[in-house]
Amino acid sequence: MLNKILVTRSSMPSYEEYIEAIKPLWDTHQLTNMGQYHQELERRLKEYLNIPELSLMVNGHMALELAIQSFGFPEGAEVITTPFTFISTTHAIVRNHLKPVFCDVKMDDGTIDESKIEDLITENTVAIIPVHVYGNVCNVEKIKEIADKYSLKVIYDAAHAFGVEYKNKGIGNYGDASVFSFHATKVFNTIEGGAVAFSNPKLYDKLYNLKNFGIRGEELVTDVGANAKMNEFSAIMGLCNLNHIEENFEERRKRYDLYKKILGNVKGICQFESSKEASCNYAYFPILVNDDYCMTRDELYDQLREHNIYSRKYFYPLTSDQACFKNKYKNDNLDIAREIASKVLVLPLYADLEMENVEEIANFISAGY
Ligand SMILES: *Cc1c(COP(=O)(O)O)cnc(C)c1O
Repeated sequence: MLNKILVTRSSMPSYEEYIEAIKPLWDTHQLTNMGQYHQELERRLKEYLNIPELSLMVNGHMALELAIQSFGFPEGAEVITTPFTFISTTHAIVRNHLKPVFCDVKMDDGTIDESKIEDLITENTVAIIPVHVYGNVCNVEKIKEIADKYSLKVIYDAAHAFGVEYKNKGIGNYGDASVFSFHATKVFNTIEGGAVAFSNPKLYDKLYNLKNFGIRGEELVTDVGANAKMNEFSAIMGLCNLNHIEENFEERRKRYDLYKKILGNVKGICQFESSKEASCNYAYFPILVNDDYCMTRDELYDQLREHNIYSRKYFYPLTSDQACFKNKYKNDNLDIAREIASKVLVLPLYADLEMENVEEIANFISAGY
């Protein structure tokens, strides 16, 4: 019996490295409000992610909410998105008083099916919010073509895609904005945190206002903003984790490759395929449990749990089928998304997961007991 293995485990610098790095805060007593480390992390991330502009946020969800808000869409306007995602994507649309219009996804990579977008466009459509799910890159070229044709904004939920490059460009360069999550469970974390990446420099001030109450001077408020600032302890955690990011990717890659090798020939177990022109950040290892496997997805999930292996059904149910949305928005013509949601299982993957554990988990699935 293995010790309890969860689907992920937060990466952290050594205790000593973090303690040393936060020490100056006891001199300055500046703990938040776009301090020195907030500024440094914005600079380092722009460089690392190879993007022109970036605004740090308190978490990925607020980054997404405020990114959407920054475009000032009229209330009730329609946004085309996918239901095969974390609930945050759909919440961010609805909490902006916009209407989610769900588009199906593709079987091979779980991203939005670009061939089905145009049929969903109406005179009320203002934006497309696709998801680079598991770090698999959407068809950014086709999506841009459609958006240009109908004058729509494109905001990518890139919460899974930290560090991914497509055609040798940082993934944050595509669309009008891309949103990253730096939550503790993500491939790069600031404990809680997130960011909006974009290229129009005007958006920086807009997002700055939205994340800091619209305050522009001691006696001047220009915007009805929220509070979504990243604090200095989080920014320092990010700076420390960024020091080790290559090592993190490399360790993840070894585990990812081992799963891939052992599970590659298992009858009824399939893997997603991402674009050949995109790099992989090894954030997740999702499998599809097909009908010709010796058990159902749910049986495999239960069996794994009995052996102390906690895989996750990311993402099941579809957000469109959740209690809060299913009677409010149309959720038909989502056959592929629903099929994937019923078959998918994300296996444990993180940098310090023992290689022997990866082997045991994969062998367990391969043997089917
Ligand atoms: C994690 C996640 C978010 C939200 O990010 P938080 O930092 O947890 O607020 C949004 N979208 C997707 C696809 C995610 O996985």
